[in-house]
Amino acid sequence: MNHQVLLQLKVYQLGLCERFLTSAIGEKGKQNAQVILRKILMGRGHIVLNTGDFEKRALTNRADDDSQPIDLHLHTTNSDGEEPPEMVVKAAKDAGLSLIAITDHNLFTYTEPREYMEMSIVPGIELSAGYYVPAWNETTEVHVVGIFPYGVNAADFEWLLSDIEKGKEDYVSAILQGLSTRGIHISMQEVMSVERTHERIGRHEIAKILVSRGIESSIDAAFDHQIGNFSPFYIPSTRYIHYASLDDIVRQILESGGIPVLAHPFGYSMNEPEIEQLIKDFTIAAERSGDKRMKSSEAPAAGIEVFYQMYLDSSESSRLDFLKRMQEKYNLLASAGSDRHRPDQPFCTAGDRGLFRKMLQRLRR
Ligand SMILES: [Zn+2]
Ligand SMILES: [Zn+2]
Repeated sequence: MNHQVLLQLKVYQLGLCERFLTSAIGEKGKQNAQVILRKILMGRGHIVLNTGDFEKRALTNRADDDSQPIDLHLHTTNSDGEEPPEMVVKAAKDAGLSLIAITDHNLFTYTEPREYMEMSIVPGIELSAGYYVPAWNETTEVHVVGIFPYGVNAADFEWLLSDIEKGKEDYVSAILQGLSTRGIHISMQEVMSVERTHERIGRHEIAKILVSRGIESSIDAAFDHQIGNFSPFYIPSTRYIHYASLDDIVRQILESGGIPVLAHPFGYSMNEPEIEQLIKDFTIAAERSGDKRMKSSEAPAAGIEVFYQMYLDSSESSRLDFLKRMQEKYNLLASAGSDRHRPDQPFCTAGDRGLFRKMLQRLRR
């Protein structure tokens, strides 16, 4: 028989699903089963469909998976990462990861979950959000990672992203103006012509020019000294780019079946009380998000990046402790991610599948 179909399915909640599948395979074979599986997936199925070889693997909650490493924050050349998605996936597998999310800036690299040599790949995104900091009387840019274990419709997010494009060029030109006052003259044309695999220009292209001219020794140095959020010459992007609000972004992620995760909470030049206020506002946004699966007494399917690779260094232990406290206090999920952009950066070393299982459990209500 050519179409020997071997289904290894873990079916959660959907008792009907199993019955459908059995009848579909028994009576009409593989094609019908695929059609029905797709229907289930478009509804609220808890199955990952690998259309390539028709092998089904659940994003399981098996207890024996809990210790396997995961990384839920990774970049590729689709945004400002240096490796194309296929290379990031392969490197993650080689590093022994069991589950990853590709979370490029403001775009989806994957919209369907998939498998690579028994490693699960979950669709994700890292969205820039505008957040008003009362103490500064200024709106700043914060990042929210969206994790979509069962897939996502990218079109849901278009309304949140359309304004970013418009302001990006103005922002780059403001940075170039700043550099020229310090004797570094770079033209917009030069920035535009930097080789890139993505459409949008940004600080990364400027950093590359600074390195190629020998002004800075590396991309990191260019960010640290000239253009990064912690450089002395930092210009807030929110002065030029209108990002969707934190509230809108959190709501859209939840409504699209995803889990919003507040990214790298120490990455916004905020002190601990300001970070706590941000976490509080993020939690409130998730709670009133209209996540229809939630009862009012339940905690939302929202998290913070507690196990952010940079905070795992022993010198950062006070940050890690603070984030663990915040995560418990606000009843949020703990996420784990490296924010890896380059091959010489490590994958996350502290995330495990147990964290992901908890995410699925909250999502599954
Ligand atoms: Zn970020
Ligand atoms: Zn990132």
